[in-house]
Amino acid sequence: MSHCYCGKILWVDLGTGEIRREEVDPGVYRRVLGGYGLGVKVLLERQPAGADPLGPDNILGFLPGLLTGTPALFSGRYMVVGKSPLTGGWGDANSGGSLSPEIKRCGYDGIFVRGVSERPVYLYIKDETVEIRDASRLWGLDTVETENVLGRELGSGFKIASIGPAGENLALIAAIINDRGRAAARSGLGAVMGSKKLKALALKGSGKVTAASPGLLKKVNMVISAPLKHEFGKTERFVTDIFAQRVLPFLLRRKVFFKPTVRQVMNSLRNYGTGAATAISVEGGDAPVKNWSGVGMFDFPWDRSGKISDRSAAPYEIKKYRCAGCPLGCGALVSVKEGKYRVEEAHRPEYETAAVFGSNILNDNYESIIKLNDLCNRLGLDAISAGAAVAFAMECFEKGLIGPGDCGGLDLRWGDADAAIALVRDIGLRRGLGDILAGGVARAAESIGRGSGEFAMHCGGQELPMHDPKYLPSYGTTYVVDATPGRHTAGAANFVDAGSPPLFGEYNLSKTVKYRYAGKGEAQAYFAKAAQVLNCLGLCQFSAFLGTLPYSEMVNAAAGWDVTDDELLETGERILTMRQLFNLREGIDPGSFTLPDRALGRPPFERGPTSGVTVDLETMRRDFFRAMKWDDSGRPDRNRCAELGISPD
Ligand code: SF4
Repeated sequence: MSHCYCGKILWVDLGTGEIRREEVDPGVYRRVLGGYGLGVKVLLERQPAGADPLGPDNILGFLPGLLTGTPALFSGRYMVVGKSPLTGGWGDANSGGSLSPEIKRCGYDGIFVRGVSERPVYLYIKDETVEIRDASRLWGLDTVETENVLGRELGSGFKIASIGPAGENLALIAAIINDRGRAAARSGLGAVMGSKKLKALALKGSGKVTAASPGLLKKVNMVISAPLKHEFGKTERFVTDIFAQRVLPFLLRRKVFFKPTVRQVMNSLRNYGTGAATAISVEGGDAPVKNWSGVGMFDFPWDRSGKISDRSAAPYEIKKYRCAGCPLGCGALVSVKEGKYRVEEAHRPEYETAAVFGSNILNDNYESIIKLNDLCNRLGLDAISAGAAVAFAMECFEKGLIGPGDCGGLDLRWGDADAAIALVRDIGLRRGLGDILAGGVARAAESIGRGSGEFAMHCGGQELPMHDPKYLPSYGTTYVVDATPGRHTAGAANFVDAGSPPLFGEYNLSKTVKYRYAGKGEAQAYFAKAAQVLNCLGLCQFSAFLGTLPYSEMVNAAAGWDVTDDELLETGERILTMRQLFNLREGIDPGSFTLPDRALGRPPFERGPTSGVTVDLETMRRDFFRAMKWDDSGRPDRNRCAELGISPD
C-alpha cells in the first residue's frame, strides 16, 4: 500500500462469480482523488452507454475518500456510485459512519460490482479473502436486522452496508445503510444494489493506512481542530440560547440575514446536531413548509417548529455519535422509551429528516419524526425522498386527486404522523399507493395525473432537499447544474450567497450578493469545484464551517505530493466535468433540469421573510455554465476538456 491509497480496486461480477483485483496507476489518484472522482473515471471507461440502471451492465461502486483511513481529521466518508435509476444519469451518494476506513484496511480504493446474481447474496471481504455468499436468509430483513444477523454470524469487527426491503423491492428512492442508520441515500442506488440481488457488504481488514508525513499531518490537524477546542460554558450557552430563541426569530421574520460565528456553528452542531437549525430554518424561509406551499411563521410558527428543533431532541439522547476520524461529533443515538412511537435505539434525525417529516408535512411531534427516521433507515429509504413523497400524497389527498380508496384507507391529512408512518412503510414494501410513490414523486405525478405534477417537488426526477432557493437563491443553481440534480451538497450555496471566505485557495467575493442574480457564476463554480475536492478526499462538509483550511497541506502530508490549491481546484473542475460528460453520454440535456414554480417563487409569496422573491434561475445557470467554460446548453468546451486531460466524447 502506498501512503493514503492502496493502488488497487476490486471487481466482482455477480453474474459470472468472477472476482479480480486490478492495479491502479498511481498517477490516477492525483488527477481524480478518490471517492466518486475515481468512480466516475471507472464508469466512464468501463460502463457501456445506455446501460439499464437496474440491469447487469450498471456498475455499482463503493469508494472511500482519498484521505480516508489516514489520521486526517474529518476524512471518514465513503461514496457509492452508479447510474441512477431515479434520474437516468450520473448517481452518487455519500455516507459517514465507520465503514469507509474498513474498505481501505481491506486493501481497496474501490469495490466495483457488476452483473446480476440469480439469488440473494452478500459480499464477504476479509483482507485478501473475498467471497460471494448466500444471503437468502437475510432477504426481507431490515437493515438493522441484517447488521445484527451478520454481526452474530461473522463475529465482531465487521463493518456492514446493506439494503432493506425498499432496495430489494426496487423502490427507486431506496438507500444503502451502514452503521444502523448512516445513509448513502441519494440517487436511488439502493435499488441498483437490489437489482443485483446484493443484500450487503461485510468488511473487515487489518491493513494500515499511513500518511507520508505523519508529523506534518499532525500539525495540519492541530490547525483544523483549534476552533473545536472551545466548548461553550454555561453563560455562553445561556446567552446563545436566548439569542437563538428570542432575538434570531425576530430578525429572521424581518428578512435580516444572520451569519453565525464558527464557534456558534460548532457548538450548536456538537450539542444538537444539524437539527439545531430546524426552527430557525422554518422561521427564516429556508425549510419548506406544507410541501413548499406554506410560510413558516404563519403556517408552522415558532411554537410548533421549536418542538422539532435543537433542545427538543435532548431528552431522547442516549449517547453522542461520531463518524470515523471526526473531531466534532454532530451525531447522537436516541430512544423513545414508551408510547406508540417507541424506538429502542436509533440515530437522531438530521435536519433534512426533521424538516421533511416536520414542517413539510405540518407535523410537530418529534417522537414521530424519530420513528419515521428509524423506519426509513430500517427499510432502506432516502428519508428526503420518502418525506417528499408523503407531502406530495398529502397535498393530492387535500386537493381530492386521490381519496381513501387509493390510499388503503389512510386518512392522509396534513400533520397526521400515524398516516405518514403507515405510508412510508407502504413505500418501502411497495404496497398500494406506496408502490406508486416508490418510483419518486415525478413518476407518481405521471401516474396520478390530473395536474398533480404541480405538487411534485423534484429536479430531474430527484426529490428536492430542504433548502428553499427563495431563501438562498444559489441553492437553485446547485439543484439544476449538478450532474446529480436536486443536490444541496454540490455547490455550497449557503457560502455563495453569504459571500463567505473561500474553503481554500481564492475566489472573487465581490459579486456574491444574496438576491443579485447576475455575476455569481464564478463564485458558484469555485464552490462547486471545492465541494468535489472535499467529497473525493472523503472529508465531511461540516469541516468547511471551520473557515479557510489548509487542505492542500493536508493532502500533501498524507499522500506525499506537492499539490497547490489551484491544482486541487482544477481537479475539482475535472471531476465536475466528468460527471457532466457521463450525463451527456446518457442522452441527458443538462438544460432540461428545472425547478417547480413553488421553489422559484412563481408566483411569489405575498407574506413572510421570502415574500416578493422570484428566483432568476436562468441567469444564474447561464453564468455558472460560462464560468465553467461550458456552452449555454451545459456542454463542456472541447479545448478545456483537452486541458483537463479528459475526452469530451
Ligand atoms: S461532523 Fe457529523 S457528519 Fe461530519 S464526520 Fe463528524 S459526526 Fe460525521
